[in-house]
Amino acid sequence: MNYNTTADFATQADAADQLASFKQQFLIPQHNGKDAIYLCGNSLGLQPKAAEKYLKEQLESWQEKAVEGWFDGDKPWLGYHREVAALVAPVVGAENSEVSVMNSLTVNLHLLLVSFYNPTVKKFKILMEAGAFPSDQYAVESQVKFYDLDPAEAIVELKPRENEHTLRTEDIIDAIETHKDELALVLFGGINYYTGQVFNMRAITEVAHKAGAYAGFDLAHAAGNVPVQLHEWNVDFACWCSYKYMNSGPGGISGIFVHQKHHNSNFKRFAGWWGYREDKRFLMQPGFDAAVGAEGWQVSTSPVMLLALHKASLDVFKQAGGITVLHEKSIKLTGYFEYLIKSINNECGKEIYRIITPANAEERGCQLSIICRYKAKKIFNYLMSKGIIGDWREPDVIRLSPVPLYNSFTDVYLAYVGLKEAVNLIDN
Ligand SMILES: *Cc1c(COP(=O)(O)O)cnc(C)c1O
Repeated sequence: MNYNTTADFATQADAADQLASFKQQFLIPQHNGKDAIYLCGNSLGLQPKAAEKYLKEQLESWQEKAVEGWFDGDKPWLGYHREVAALVAPVVGAENSEVSVMNSLTVNLHLLLVSFYNPTVKKFKILMEAGAFPSDQYAVESQVKFYDLDPAEAIVELKPRENEHTLRTEDIIDAIETHKDELALVLFGGINYYTGQVFNMRAITEVAHKAGAYAGFDLAHAAGNVPVQLHEWNVDFACWCSYKYMNSGPGGISGIFVHQKHHNSNFKRFAGWWGYREDKRFLMQPGFDAAVGAEGWQVSTSPVMLLALHKASLDVFKQAGGITVLHEKSIKLTGYFEYLIKSINNECGKEIYRIITPANAEERGCQLSIICRYKAKKIFNYLMSKGIIGDWREPDVIRLSPVPLYNSFTDVYLAYVGLKEAVNLIDN
C-alpha cells in the first residue's frame, strides 16, 4: 500500500476494506459518549455482540435441562469442547485432534511442562527468551525447582545483542547449538509480549529437535494475531489464552496443542477424569486410560459458559475467512500505523517515538511497541484522556495494536493525530 498522512487516505482505505463491516459485530467501549479508539486487543480483545446470545443459550440449557444438558438436545455439553477445539485448530494450524480447550494459560503451561520437561542428569536445561512474560518465568522457575534443580543453572535466558531490542534468529540457533548437550527444552513465546517480535518458530523447532530437545511455544500473543502452522512446523506443544486476540472474555478459556506424533506416547502427565477416554469415562473405573490426542491432557469438567464465549468469537473468525485473511489486513493496518508514526519523527526532525517492534511484516503481528523518548507517561495519559486506549509498560513503552477484526484505518489515523498532538507536551 502507498500510504500518505491525509485523513482522506484512511477514509478511502476503509471504503475499500472487505473486512470493514466486522467492526459492527463488536461492542466498542465508550469514551465521553463516543466510540473509543481501542488499540489494546493485545491485552483484552473486545466483546463480540454474539457473546451474550451464545452465553444465554447455555444458561437456558442449564435452566431447562439441568444435568440432562450434558447428554440431551442437539448440542449436548459433553462434546461441546470438541466443537470449539475444531474452530481453534485452523487458527493455529493444527489437526483437530491436536487441540484441546481447557483451563487457563499458565495452568496449561504447567501441565504441558509436566509432560515435556523431564530433566535428566545430562539433559536438564530450558532455553527461553529473556524478558518472557512473568507468568511464564514463574512457571518455568517453579518447575525447575520442583526437580530440585537450580534455576540459575537450568534456565538459559537469551538476551538481544547490545543496543538491540529484539533477538536475531541466528543467535537463538547458536544458543541452542551451544547448549545442545544439556538442553531438554526450548520454550519461547510465539510473539514476545513486550516487543511484539514474532519468533521463527519453524527454525527454532527444527534446531531444537536436532539438539535432541523439545520445542514448545506460548502463543498468548500469537494465537488469533498471526498465522502459525504448529502441525507442519513439527512443534511439540503449545498453549495460548483466548482473551487477547481471540476476544473470548477476561480470564477466558485457554487452549493447548500437542503434536500428533506424541499422541501414542506414554507421556507423564497430571491426569483427571476429563482426559479419560470418553467412551469409558463414566464407568468410573480405576486406572487412567487417556483419550487419544490433546484431549488426553484435559483434567476437569469443561467450563461450558467459557466455551460458549470462546465459540462466539471463533465463529466471527470463521465468517471473516480465517486468520490468513485477517492477517492480510493486519499487515496493511500496522504498516500504515508505522508509516504515520515515523512521519511524526520526520516532521519533528528527531526521534520522538522509537518503534522497537521489528519493521519486517513477517516478524510482527498487530502490535507496535513504542518507546516514548520524552515525557512518556504524560504522553500515554494524554492518549487515554482522548479515548485512545493502549497499554503502558514500564519504563517508557506504549503498546498499540490495531486489530483487523474491529479496528479501521480511521482508528489508526485518529491515534496518529493523538500521538502528534502529544508532541506538544514535550516542550511544556
Ligand atoms: C497474557 C499472558 C499470560 C497470562 O496467563 P494467564 O494464565 O492467562 O493469566 C501468560 N503468558 C503470556 C506469554 C502472556 O502473554
